Amino acid sequence: MNSVQAELLVAGSCTHPEHIVHGNWRLSSMQFPATFALIRHPDKGLMLYDTGYSTQFLKATEKLPERLYRWITPVTIPEDQTAAAQLRARGIDPEDVKFVILSHFHADHVGGLVDFPRAQFLFLEDAWKAVKDLSGLSALRRAFLPALLPTDFRKRGQAIETGRPMALPSELDPFTHGHDIFGDGSMYAVELDGHAIGQMGLVLRLQTGAFWFLVADACWTSRCYRERISPHVVTRLLFNNTREYRRTLARIGDLSERSPEVQIIPSHCTETLRSLSGAARS
Ligand SMILES: [Zn+2]
Repeated sequence: MNSVQAELLVAGSCTHPEHIVHGNWRLSSMQFPATFALIRHPDKGLMLYDTGYSTQFLKATEKLPERLYRWITPVTIPEDQTAAAQLRARGIDPEDVKFVILSHFHADHVGGLVDFPRAQFLFLEDAWKAVKDLSGLSALRRAFLPALLPTDFRKRGQAIETGRPMALPSELDPFTHGHDIFGDGSMYAVELDGHAIGQMGLVLRLQTGAFWFLVADACWTSRCYRERISPHVVTRLLFNNTREYRRTLARIGDLSERSPEVQIIPSHCTETLRSLSGAARS
């Protein structure tokens, strides 16, 4: 059984009115950090889970119709805050990143892929199938910007083997099955239905013995799963399946009550980031 080290970092952020996320009537703006994880695997080397935004996002949304994305979702991404820049600041060459594991293909998760020229990209096949032939407005409607993918994406992309789901560690109950990515018990891909087709959560077995469960956009904040907050009608239009979204959200809420020691990490939750700061490398 292997284990990994992991660290949470943020590459850019966007703003939305709070009522869209928490279903209340607060019109005040909330900032949503775009989190990614830097993972050190003892045999497979360095890898990332998602990338957050990068300056490539600004290039990809310069013209219409893609410009609409920036109008609807104002994005901040300073050049020194991209995933690649932050890795360099830590003495890591982005060329040394071996894998980028993609939760799904929304722009705030794949925004920095072009900065990792040697990485292999791992994802669930359904997620790729849902977007691979989209362009222009039909891509935009799925929050997918094809210009964010490196030109050799198809060559370096690989679907995770899902033929034989295996039992997850009992601590993850009610999530019972997942896919052991490297066959060594260190990292499991878990399907999280509802937000986007083929969205993948990632369970990390840390060297401390604890588990991290990165749940991407299965919920936007920890408050959403604690209080089982259904999303605003506007965001429901973007979701692949609202019923499945609610089911997944309820399971995450159940997990947090049954196993409070499992750290649940939504991609855009400031509160979770704060609670992990300082202890970010585990
Ligand atoms: Zn998303």
